[in-house]
Amino acid sequence: MTQLKEILSYNEAFVKNEEYKPYETSKFPNKELAIVTCMDTRLIELLPKALNIHNGDAKMIKNAGGMIETPYDSAMKSLLVAIYELKAREVLIIGHHKCGMIGLKGENMIEHMKEQGLNETSLNHAKSENDHLETWLNGFGSVEERVKKSVETVKNHPLMPRDIPVHGLVICPETGKLDLVVEDNK
Ligand SMILES: [Zn+2]
Repeated sequence: MTQLKEILSYNEAFVKNEEYKPYETSKFPNKELAIVTCMDTRLIELLPKALNIHNGDAKMIKNAGGMIETPYDSAMKSLLVAIYELKAREVLIIGHHKCGMIGLKGENMIEHMKEQGLNETSLNHAKSENDHLETWLNGFGSVEERVKKSVETVKNHPLMPRDIPVHGLVICPETGKLDLVVEDNK
C-alpha cells in the first residue's frame, strides 16, 4: 500500500480549487537568502515559521544533518546555483539539536540494512563502488562543530563570492529557538 493514490486525488482537488493562489511567487528569493538545513520532519514548517520565512523568501537546501560535507557535493552545488543563478546574497547553515545524524555510525546503519533484508551481494556491490562506504554513511558527534565545519567549507570555497556572508546556527526542533554558532560580519 502506498500513499500515492491519496496524494494524487488530494492534489487534483488542490489545483482545481486554486489553493495554490496564496503561494504564487517567483524562483528568485525575495529575501535573497539561501538556507542549508536538515531534512528533519520537525523542521518542515517550524523552521520557516521561526525565521519568518514565507514561500518565495529563500532557497532551501536540505539533506540529512544540513551539512556541506565536501566542497563538491550536491549541497555545495545547490548553494552555488542559489547564489549565481538565483540571486541569493546571504547564507545560513542551520543544524539542529537532537538531529538523527548525531552519533550515527555507518557500521550500525549497515547492520540495519542487513536486518531489513539487504543481501551480501548488494552490499558488496556498494562496497566495490564506494571504498569508504562505512565512513560515508557516518553522521557526526557535535552539531555545533558540524555547523562550523560546513561554514568553513563554504567560506573557503574557491567559487564562493567573497562578499557573501555565511552564518552558522543551531535550531531547537521543539521551540524553534536559534543559537548563533558563527556570525559572519561582512
Ligand atoms: Zn537532523
